[in-house]
Amino acid sequence: MTCTRPRVTMPLINHGPSRRLMAGVMRRNNIPMTYHPDMSNFTMVASGDYVRAVGWLHPEHPYPRGHACWKFRWRLRRFVRRADESTEELGWGSFRGSHTCEFCGRGSGYRNFGVPAGGILFVAPEMILHYVRWHRYLLPVEFIEAVLSGPLPGTAEYGRAVLCSGGAISRSRGVVAAAM
Ligand SMILES: [Zn+2]
Repeated sequence: MTCTRPRVTMPLINHGPSRRLMAGVMRRNNIPMTYHPDMSNFTMVASGDYVRAVGWLHPEHPYPRGHACWKFRWRLRRFVRRADESTEELGWGSFRGSHTCEFCGRGSGYRNFGVPAGGILFVAPEMILHYVRWHRYLLPVEFIEAVLSGPLPGTAEYGRAVLCSGGAISRSRGVVAAAM
């Protein structure tokens, strides 16, 4: 199953949320999202040569925008719904707080999940689905292909794929994702 890479528009330069928006965010007592560039090797929950960060957006940093096909969005939603099973399989800890979208002040989330693909592990926050749906966030094609073709968390196939990826390292380390 493939997903044609959509036309990419120029990255959005967002100059940050308004004071009013940020005040709303802070009133909800949420933890701001920590920015990690797409495909970098470090996230709050796992890091290393095997890690590929995706979806760690922040308004102060531009991100690629475009249309994601429905197959990808549908499949991504299934990964997000099973984020707890992914976290358990990977041996990650839980965050103590949640994130509210710093672009619009609506969607929120606190979980993360991994998508194994060969020898690498994509690491994403569940907010990624909100970013795709409401902010036209366009993910790297490698991640799109991994989501479309990879096994879902909670399946035996997912467990095996985690072992083949760096996810086994995360599990052996018993990484605890300490919130800020
Ligand atoms: Zn939003």
